[in-house]
Amino acid sequence: MEADVYFAPGRVNLIGEHTDYNGGLVLPLAIAEGTYVMIRSREAPPARLYSASTGEEAEFDPGEIAPRGDWADYVRGVFAVLAEDRGTPPPFEALYFGDLPLGAGLSSSASMEVVTATAFASLGFALDAEEAARAGWRAENQFVGVYCGIMDQYAVALAEEGTVLFLDCGTVIYRHIPFTLKDDSIVIAHTGVYRSLAASAYNQRRRECEEALRAISETVGNKSNLGNVTREELVSARPRLTEAAGRRAEHVVEENLRVKEAVLCLEGGDPEGLGELLNLSHASLRDLYRVSSPELDTMQEISLDQPGVWGCRMTGAGFGGCVISLVRSEAVPGYLARVPDIYRGATGREPFFITVDSPGGGARKLQARW
Ligand code: ADP
Ligand code: MG
Repeated sequence: MEADVYFAPGRVNLIGEHTDYNGGLVLPLAIAEGTYVMIRSREAPPARLYSASTGEEAEFDPGEIAPRGDWADYVRGVFAVLAEDRGTPPPFEALYFGDLPLGAGLSSSASMEVVTATAFASLGFALDAEEAARAGWRAENQFVGVYCGIMDQYAVALAEEGTVLFLDCGTVIYRHIPFTLKDDSIVIAHTGVYRSLAASAYNQRRRECEEALRAISETVGNKSNLGNVTREELVSARPRLTEAAGRRAEHVVEENLRVKEAVLCLEGGDPEGLGELLNLSHASLRDLYRVSSPELDTMQEISLDQPGVWGCRMTGAGFGGCVISLVRSEAVPGYLARVPDIYRGATGREPFFITVDSPGGGARKLQARW
């Protein structure tokens, strides 16, 4: 029997952090690493799933689908969402594998959801890239129960090679911006810290942002999200905000402006300007939004010290995960030769690194068949 093969990448966010669930702007890109699935339909239930990444198996009956709290929920969730919208897909079997680290902040969850949604084309349920993104997002929010913004699934589904995705998470309008910096690379440095505090702090930030939005709306008139608030509106509402809510809102408003400036830097081929924005974003996430950690700060500082580095910042939810640096491509080998030892010495943690010379493409069917 033959099976079709699909791929969806992981993603990293260049700039625009903690803006997605605030209806703001983000600028993610796909990396080469990702999730593959070999899929084929089965005559009869159950649906059977295997992951070569973790050695786990799972199954479910398409007729009685419910979350089980395991890895396969990302797949079940996509199945459940499609079944709700379009009628139940046939039973299938699927083997997942890939080279994307799991739980590292590079969105293996969105990668798995979107590769699944895309692969359902082989079961007679063809979705376009945006439909696949939405199915993945709904699976993660409504089925798995992780209340994330739309950035990850959109980045993974809609990415185009050589571009970053300029996405307005409020209006869901997007544009592909060419990554013009041909002499520069993005180095992703994982701190060796897998998130621990992330969930509780994330929920707290969401609450603080809602509180800020309410107070701002009471002052300047109704605002649908912080992504729509201008600098001037924030200044006028500031006296009504608590210290914490004011800082969180200031981060979101300024970060949004930085995303727009980052697009201009890419369009103008200005790595120096982009690097400066990355540094400002990091400082804001550390001091105003307060989602950095000693390891993220240490990695950011060590990276910034290296020759050929234009700028760096933590990326992702925070408290662990990755720092990205914009680095002259010719300086990357030197960076990779020095930073691991310095970082290990400073923190006792074991980092790993992924270099992106140019952004990768989005979810797609591969030519291969087995
Ligand atoms: P991230 O999205 O940053 O990688 P998450 O915690 O959101 O981190 O998602 C990681 C989880 O997604 C894993 O713990 C696992 O349950 C599931 N997952 C993703 N990819 C795979 C895979 N290839 N095989 C098995 N499970 C996977
Ligand atoms: Mg995830």
